[in-house]
Amino acid sequence: MSDMQLNTKVVKFGGSSLADASQFRKVKDIITADETRRYVVPSAPGKRHSNDIKITDLLYTSQKLAASGKDFSEPLSMIRSRYLEIAQELGLSFDPTEELDRIAARLKDGATKDFAASRGEYLNGLLLADFLGFPFIDAAEVICFNESGTLMMPETMAKLRDRLKDTPQAVIPGFYGAGPSGEIITFSRGGSDITGSLVARAARAEIYENWTDVSGVLVADPRIVKDAAVINTITYEELRELSYMGATVLHEDAIFPVRAAGIPINIRNTNDPAAPGTMIVAGDSAESDALTGYTITGIAGKKGFCAINIQKAMMNAELGFCRKVLTVLEEMEISFEHMPSGIDTMTIILAEDMIKGREKTVLSRIRKAVEPDSCEIEHGISLLAVVGRGMRRTRGTAARIFAALAHARINVKMIDQGSSELNIIIGLLDGDFEAAVRHIYDMFVNSALKTEENSEN
Ligand code: ASP
Repeated sequence: MSDMQLNTKVVKFGGSSLADASQFRKVKDIITADETRRYVVPSAPGKRHSNDIKITDLLYTSQKLAASGKDFSEPLSMIRSRYLEIAQELGLSFDPTEELDRIAARLKDGATKDFAASRGEYLNGLLLADFLGFPFIDAAEVICFNESGTLMMPETMAKLRDRLKDTPQAVIPGFYGAGPSGEIITFSRGGSDITGSLVARAARAEIYENWTDVSGVLVADPRIVKDAAVINTITYEELRELSYMGATVLHEDAIFPVRAAGIPINIRNTNDPAAPGTMIVAGDSAESDALTGYTITGIAGKKGFCAINIQKAMMNAELGFCRKVLTVLEEMEISFEHMPSGIDTMTIILAEDMIKGREKTVLSRIRKAVEPDSCEIEHGISLLAVVGRGMRRTRGTAARIFAALAHARINVKMIDQGSSELNIIIGLLDGDFEAAVRHIYDMFVNSALKTEENSEN
């Protein structure tokens, strides 16, 4: 890799960042403000307003109609006008008409779902490359999948590195690549995040900037906590915990390529480029960082769980009790989330979806396996995760969480603290979920802000 590429930022822009011509202008300003922003990975145009339809969805719809021999002119003309409008408003020299005709012809000829969906990023990449004056690299030439659709990492790295070494700046569309015989294959939805991560790794970038429409990862879901604070720094592990519990930030598979190479991810807001956003870093580099000052990093959670409550006198003394119950679940291919237990009781917390329609069978098989005194299912349970690397070195965090819940008269059904001391998971009734998030947020964030204000006065 040449010296020139030592200072490299890879920038990925999500669909809302490229939804229309005015968003394209913001993107160009961001890129030209920093000459180390060399490699640009765009998504397809997203929603311009809440009732809008994403180009990717219009492409899927067109393909579905085309595949069943139906008329797809309506979604196709919506796609056409979106791209033509962007090109015209920006005064581009590139005219997308020919490419759009080619896509229509391919759809008529029975294009695959993946091919159709990939054209959203492909065309947007062509428009953006023209607008920026950067070369265009077709992702089909550098992102490699095997015949079963799995990404081939070494081949992808080799191809990307080979192309990037002579190309100091480029636009590489996100979301797709090609299989062994050149057929287009996409990642799962939101997969442009993965392309950005792969390009960052191949370019040995100093940072992977992921530009979106929020000013970073928030401490809590803004639909529950209005004006939730932004997390300044979060570790990959913490992000994984929060994402698993429902926080939607990045595509799950986007973390691994950069994490393995020690490249931090910076979540940024295209509509507020001055905001520093959230840095996602490795655990050891975060240790020396100033914490947010809240002890906790984030709160996330999900509804839709249930509990299988099993009771039997002297359960604890019965050898193999737990194994027998878990064997029933394993045989029915049911995975569970948590298993708190007492001397004579055992509870298994699992997603409702796992046992929907099979409740009676599960109960009767458990009854047969361990002959409990009682065994029943309790529905309507939520799980809430309080995540934070700061909890390891701060005493009293659990006390503060449960004081907040007690104060709000919320009944806690389960508590689970992982051995990493990175998170505390709490089981609650669905009806208490939102209030619990708000009270914990208040306890850690709002009260910390008040303390700060007081010490400034
Ligand atoms: N355009 C694709 C989607 O809507 C991929 C992406 O935006 O990352 O899922």
